[in-house]
Amino acid sequence: MALRARGAHCLVTTSQGRRLDLFEYQGKQLFARHGIPVPSGEVAETPEAARAAAERIGGTVVVKAQVQIGGRGKAGGIQLASTPDEAELHARNILGMDIRGHIVHQVWVEAASEIVKEYYASVTFDRGEKKPLVMLSAAGGMDIEEVAATQPEKLATVHVDPLTGFQAHHARWLVYHAGIDAGAQAGVVKILQQLYQAFTEFDTMLVEINPLIWTATGDVVALDAKVTIDNNSLYRHPDLLEMQLSVTEDPQERLAQEKGVTYVKLDGDVGILGNGAGLVMSTLDVVALAGGRPANFLDAGGGSKADEVVAALEVLLSDPKVKVLLINIFGGITRCDEVANGLLTALDNLGATLPIVVRLDGTNEDEGRKIIAEQAPPNVVVEATMLSAAQRAVELAKGVPA
Ligand code: GDP
Ligand code: MN
Repeated sequence: MALRARGAHCLVTTSQGRRLDLFEYQGKQLFARHGIPVPSGEVAETPEAARAAAERIGGTVVVKAQVQIGGRGKAGGIQLASTPDEAELHARNILGMDIRGHIVHQVWVEAASEIVKEYYASVTFDRGEKKPLVMLSAAGGMDIEEVAATQPEKLATVHVDPLTGFQAHHARWLVYHAGIDAGAQAGVVKILQQLYQAFTEFDTMLVEINPLIWTATGDVVALDAKVTIDNNSLYRHPDLLEMQLSVTEDPQERLAQEKGVTYVKLDGDVGILGNGAGLVMSTLDVVALAGGRPANFLDAGGGSKADEVVAALEVLLSDPKVKVLLINIFGGITRCDEVANGLLTALDNLGATLPIVVRLDGTNEDEGRKIIAEQAPPNVVVEATMLSAAQRAVELAKGVPA
C-alpha cells in the first residue's frame, strides 16, 4: 500500500495524453542507448515475418506480444520457440490476441535467455518525498507490490537527491540490501546507474526492468522494459515523440500529438474547444446540463494564437463523430480576435460545413465578434453566454442527421 501511495506501480496509460507507456521493444531501445544489456531481436507484424526474424536470430527465440500492459506472460502472450516453424506458429496465436483490452498488433522476437535468477529494478518519482525513488529486489518477475507485501526484506529502496544524483554507493547499498547474488552484483550496480541516467535523460515518469535477469553465462540483462513517458517533456525529445506516435492508434490522438495540443476523446457528438483546463471542464458540465454529450475536448491553452486555433480545429474536425462544434473562449491572455481569425482560417483551409457555435468573452471580444460577423460563414452561430451556446450546440447536434 505504501508503494502504491508512492506512485510506483499505479501509473496508468491514460487517454488524456499526459503520460504514455512505450512498448517493451522501444523501452529496450532506450535502455540500449545507455549501455544496459538487452537481448537482440526484431519486431514482426505477421507470422511470416516472425519466422524470418527467428531464422536470422538463430537458436531458441522468445515471441513476445507488444502491448502497453504487463502480465503478458500469464496471458499467454510470451512463448519460447526452438525453431522458426514454432516461432511462426506462436506469432500466429499471439497476433490479434486481446490482453486485457489491448489488441496485439506486433510481436517482438528476441534471442532467448537462460535465466538463473530474476530480479527487479526501477526508478520512479516519489511525489511525497519530492525525489526520484530507486527500487531493487531479488524477487523479480512478479508484481512489486506483492513483493512489498509478502517479502519486504527482499525489496530495497533509495531516495535520490536530484542535485547530486544517483551514485555508485547508492547502487552498492541497494544491491547489498536487496540480497542480490554475489556473481550478479557488479552487473546490477552498473545497470542501476545506467537506468538512473536513462530515467533523467529521457525525462521519464518510470523506468522499470522486471525481470532483470542473471543468466547462465553470468551476465545481467534487462529481459523486460517498461518506460512511461511524460508527455510534457516531448518537446525536447523528438525521438520519443516518434515512438509515442507509433504507439497511439487513435487518429485524432495522433494528430493532436503531432500538433502538440491537449486532446481527450469522449463518446458523444459535441466537439469542444476551450482555452484553459478549468473552462474546458466547465464546458463539459454545461453541455451535459443542456442534455448533450461531448465527443471530445480540446484545450487550446492560455494565450492561444490563430495558428494554434487552426491546429486545434483541425484535430476536432477530423473526428467523424463530431456533429457540432462548440467553441468556448474566455479571453484573458488569449485574445478573442486571434481566435476568430483562427476559426475563419480553419474554415477556409478545411472547408468544414458542420455547425459551429461560438462564445467569445473577455479580451477583444467585440473585435472577435466583428471579425466573424463581417465574414458571416453560414455555419457559424455566435452566442452570448456559455449556457446559451451549450444549449444551441446540443439542439443542433440533435437536429443534424448522423
Ligand atoms: P510480462 O509478463 O508482461 O511482465 O513479460 P516479461 O517480459 O516480464 O516476461 C514474463 C516472463 O516470461 C519472465 O519473467 C520470464 O520468466 C519469461 N521469459 C521471458 N523471456 C524469456 C527468455 O528469454 N527465456 C526464458 N527462459 N524465459 C523468459
Ligand atoms: Mn515483466
